[in-house]
Amino acid sequence: MKPERTVGFVGLGVMGRPMARNLLRAGLTVRAFDLSDEALADLADAGARPVASGAQAAEGAEAVFVSLPDSPHVEEAALGAGGIAEGAAPGTVVVDLSTIAAGVSRRLAVELARDLVYLDAPVSGGPQGAEAGTLSIMVGGSHHGYGRVEPLLRHLGRTVVHVGESGMGQVFKSCNQIVCAMNIQALCEAFALARSQGADLALLREVLRGGAAGSWMLDNLGPQMINGDPSAGFRIELQLKDIRLATQLALEAGVPLPGGLQVMALYLEAMAHGEGRNGNQALFRVYDRLSGQDSSRDASDS
Ligand code: NAD
Repeated sequence: MKPERTVGFVGLGVMGRPMARNLLRAGLTVRAFDLSDEALADLADAGARPVASGAQAAEGAEAVFVSLPDSPHVEEAALGAGGIAEGAAPGTVVVDLSTIAAGVSRRLAVELARDLVYLDAPVSGGPQGAEAGTLSIMVGGSHHGYGRVEPLLRHLGRTVVHVGESGMGQVFKSCNQIVCAMNIQALCEAFALARSQGADLALLREVLRGGAAGSWMLDNLGPQMINGDPSAGFRIELQLKDIRLATQLALEAGVPLPGGLQVMALYLEAMAHGEGRNGNQALFRVYDRLSGQDSSRDASDS
């Protein structure tokens, strides 16, 4: 009989839950923690062992995965009272799948280095990729740590790459998010123009998909934009956080990102209209308001 292999998982939200399920399907024992009882119960139904803290999630685990909203959540989960560092055995690898500040990732790697190995491993591919186990995972940190968890990461992603030292995973993710956010903006502009001309948006999407304008965003968010479906996959508030991280990094490096700053203003407008918890396709509602078209659709519809 194969020996039981145990991992911890902290943060069972839109992304964490399907990723943890894939680790269960791969035959691993998953010790799962989230502040939400509903998330914990759901994963327990899928076979995970629910626990009461990050420290407990780390007990007996060879690796602890983390998928939390932003830098302060990860710092608290790793180093706070009852956090991962309290329960993890020396040598445990902490794999941070969250999108957070590169500087915080570097600091966590140093602060945990005495006993643990910390890797920044942000992901791209959305809830669909998390469910299918086809995410792109960009890992920063030591070669040694990466080598130990790479086989586990292959249960979560199809493109799993060690991209450099600590923080470099987050740098890659910031580049990824600039492309994603500006692609969403480009789709909004094409749909707003098409609508003003009385064009059939579904037909436009079909034609664009077949040519050079095709993209993941068009495939996955296009239908929701056209149907005015605001349901959250990747929330407006999280994308705004990601654009903020990218533009701050650029500012520190003295690199102008005019497109990034402009798209950030559109996301701020969406936030001001109560769209923060809606999915990214709700950026199209900003164009509703800018153009005075379809003004019946606003955040209160959701
Ligand atoms: P989410 O808000 O759906 O999930 C976060 C979970 O963390 C929630 O269940 C919440 O209860 C839990 N939580 C918060 N603080 C906690 C703490 N201190 N201890 C334990 N649990 C805690 O967010 P998400 O969409 O799953 O995103 C997670 C990360 O992945 C973010 O950094 C996000 O930017 C990134 N990401 C998201 C997507 C996406 O499409 N949603 C895609 C790629 C990357």
